[in-house]
Amino acid sequence: MPLKQYYALPLPEIVSELNTDLKKGLSTQEAQVRLLHYGKNKLEQLSSISPLRIFFAQFSDFLVLLLIGASIISFFIGEKKESLVILFIVIVNGAIGFFQEYRAERSIEALRKLESPHSIVIRDGKEQEIPSEELVPGDIIKLSEGCKIPADARLTLEADFQVNESLLTGESLPVTKGLETLKENTLISERTNMVFSATIVSSGRGKAVVTATGMDTEVGAIARMVQSETKGVTPLQEKIEHLGKILGLVAIGIAIPGFILGYFQGREPFSLFLLFVSLVVSAVPEGLPIIITITLALGVQRLLKAKTLVRRLPIVEVLGGTDVICTDKTGTLTCNAMTVENIVTADYFFDIEGNGFTPQGDVFGSAFSLFEKTQVQEVEKQEENRITPLKAQQLSSLQKVLDGITLCNDATIDLGDPTERALIVASAKLDIEKVELKKQFPRIDEVPFSSDRKYMLTLHQEKDANKTVAFLKGAVEIVLEKCSSVIVGNKTVELTKQHREAIQQMNELLASQGMRVLALGYKKGTEKEFPQQQPPSEFIFAGLIGMIDPPRAEVQPAIATCRHAGIRVVMITGDHRLTAEAIGKKVGLESSNILTGDTLEAMSDAELEIAVEKTSIFARVSSEHKLRILSAFQKNKHVVAMIGDGVNDAPALKKANIGISVGSGTDLSKETSDMVLLDDNFATFEKAIKEGRVIFDNVQKFVHALLAVNLGEILLVLSSILLSVISRKAIPVILLPIHLLWINLLTDSIPAMALGLDGAVDGIMARKPRSQNTTIFSGILFKIIVTGFTFALVTFVVFSLFYPWWLPNLSDKQLLYAQTIAFCLIVFFELFYNFTTRSPRGALHAGLFTNKWLLGAVALCGSLQVLVISVPALRGLFRVTSLDLIDWGIILGSALGGVILLELVFFVVRKVQGTQY
Ligand code: ATP
Repeated sequence: MPLKQYYALPLPEIVSELNTDLKKGLSTQEAQVRLLHYGKNKLEQLSSISPLRIFFAQFSDFLVLLLIGASIISFFIGEKKESLVILFIVIVNGAIGFFQEYRAERSIEALRKLESPHSIVIRDGKEQEIPSEELVPGDIIKLSEGCKIPADARLTLEADFQVNESLLTGESLPVTKGLETLKENTLISERTNMVFSATIVSSGRGKAVVTATGMDTEVGAIARMVQSETKGVTPLQEKIEHLGKILGLVAIGIAIPGFILGYFQGREPFSLFLLFVSLVVSAVPEGLPIIITITLALGVQRLLKAKTLVRRLPIVEVLGGTDVICTDKTGTLTCNAMTVENIVTADYFFDIEGNGFTPQGDVFGSAFSLFEKTQVQEVEKQEENRITPLKAQQLSSLQKVLDGITLCNDATIDLGDPTERALIVASAKLDIEKVELKKQFPRIDEVPFSSDRKYMLTLHQEKDANKTVAFLKGAVEIVLEKCSSVIVGNKTVELTKQHREAIQQMNELLASQGMRVLALGYKKGTEKEFPQQQPPSEFIFAGLIGMIDPPRAEVQPAIATCRHAGIRVVMITGDHRLTAEAIGKKVGLESSNILTGDTLEAMSDAELEIAVEKTSIFARVSSEHKLRILSAFQKNKHVVAMIGDGVNDAPALKKANIGISVGSGTDLSKETSDMVLLDDNFATFEKAIKEGRVIFDNVQKFVHALLAVNLGEILLVLSSILLSVISRKAIPVILLPIHLLWINLLTDSIPAMALGLDGAVDGIMARKPRSQNTTIFSGILFKIIVTGFTFALVTFVVFSLFYPWWLPNLSDKQLLYAQTIAFCLIVFFELFYNFTTRSPRGALHAGLFTNKWLLGAVALCGSLQVLVISVPALRGLFRVTSLDLIDWGIILGSALGGVILLELVFFVVRKVQGTQY
């Protein structure tokens, strides 16, 4: 369907064409009908998973192809059974790889779908929040700073409205929007009266009528382009893939001389070739990257249960290494349940009762003088002090404050910024109805609130059409700068230096109780006197509003746990120093060293780098300061997580090692972040860090297990060839190609997956964060090498006992017997060794029965091995002989003995080094 040129139509025509109403919007019923007609407002997902592609990818590896080729040749040369089994194992291996990868892709795709944005829409004459998917053409939507535009729409109202349209146009600078009707065939980048789905409001406020949804939008038209996201490989996977290549090369490097040596010893060249190809295939941990993806994806699902949405998988790897958390205050450390407690005018002090956003609570007031430094006393809550709507009208300054906080406000009781909702609730407690007031004083112009400006300004028409009144609301020092007089009683008097000081003192008094304090100013005039471009000035100060936002109960213990885990928590807030300090104290931050935006501004980068090390609270900071603070931490080699919600947090979220937004934050902050705390709660992040540590540990566990095993296999195969050279005796190979591949199949995937599901080891949050130099091999490389050698040595010794190669006249039967024992021994050795990898302090520390997945995996793989030896038909295929109970006793005893020996060695090493790990 061709897109209509809505930008070239006058607004009334669009309204009638879309059969809507700018004020009331659509009716819910009509919207439902349209939803059926137009379908959901979402882009059709082109499935990125092609099972066939994934399946064939399993066999495209060069080494696997070589193995397939070698076994086909061996089929024709004579070893028919063996080659069929090899082919079978390769296919089973491929199938396991396929299921793992398919599952990983599926869970990643499912996670992508979890982000379901919401929009504010006007329906049935009321503002409401609905899932963006339910938007239909004709809907009237409200757009605010930081929100992602949910559909294509024509603007009907805008204030300081700018949109980042880089997604569509490639232009990274924000585009200023307007309302003017444009010419036909205007380029997309110049359609300034339209907003487009998936672009982001970078500043201001707007209202628009939806013209197209879903695949009919501009972004729908290029959906294929947008959807073809490239599949990201995590840094850990990259490293592991790299390691795989190195191991492959090392194995080839060993295999070629091994083959040549073997050949000159007179061994049969083709079976030797097959042996070494199998060895190389087994040595390369080809399953590792995908097991890592699964472990990460499963971890991500666990995180989701704990209310953390991971937007970028690789970030899970960084989580465990985080050693500094920078967090904003409002909503994350506090409940975001702002409640206005006090209003202070020059002549009255008001106490407002009630909690949260329920507009119920009495208001009490007592006369006092702000400027004569009368001590603020508890307002006595007696009947004569109760402020009724009628009494409020008689108190001019209070009336101004109430009008101001209601009109200079974009929220309703139920929707919008919590600070503004709290103000509406406070005025509603004195029966002020925003809707009514707005009718009396329609807004004709505005400067929307931004965190960097720290104020909001609106201009309203008075009853007398020539008169206007402007309201200014914002941070106290900012509003005060723009005021030149103050209302006392019914009079306006000049705002002297002493007045300013008194107001500041009151501000500090309220702030030191943990309150967020706003000031309100107003100014009367004519419309012409409100030049938006010029900085506002000459306002009349009306009063201060103090609101509390209690800290969340869970935050204090969470901060304590972080500290215990060697993670510093730092608060970065736009709020006043004293407000930040009071909240900081309550949640257990070291509040002795606070840095404010002004001081920070005067510091050089080098000074800041020193300062950040001892500062726990940064107050009154701007977005630029946030970036500098982050850079300073990163310069000092910290891994920094940043939690933020606003538009002004976005650059810092991008810069941080982990950017975290919150569920109630702006779409922009969510878009730029790596993770979203769905419940806005800091304590949730502490859990995420723990989960991150568990995931890293688990990856380390199976990397440890797999590499140790692979090394053992290489050494074992080589040992017979090398010892033959040294001893000048013909020592047959201990493991056959088929055995190597079977061991690879049994031990590479199932137990590794079980280790990936392991729980946290004791004291995981009592250890310091991983340093940046730590790699996945830190602490395990030594163990891998020792274990590899022990595996090979123990198996070789046991093999030699059953097949004393130094003696003459040994039979093939004896060899088959010894090979069978060695084959089983290495399988059980490996299965048992998985338990050792579970804790740096050994198997017993982790508990032998605490991972039921691993117990299951070991039981399954062990049974399969017993099956191969016990079923006569399989025995033939796998070239093994039957074993009796004594043999099994020797196998299990040696495997267990080998693992216990290793545990003892590691124990002694820990003791000698004096480390716990
Ligand atoms: P936090 O870290 O606590 O989330 P922030 O950095 O997001 O804080 P802002 O919300 O940007 O802080 O607020 C900064 C200051 O701007 C506040 O201290 C307050 O004085 C003022 N302020 C906040 N919200 C509004 C608003 N809606 N209108 C006017 N002024 C506001």
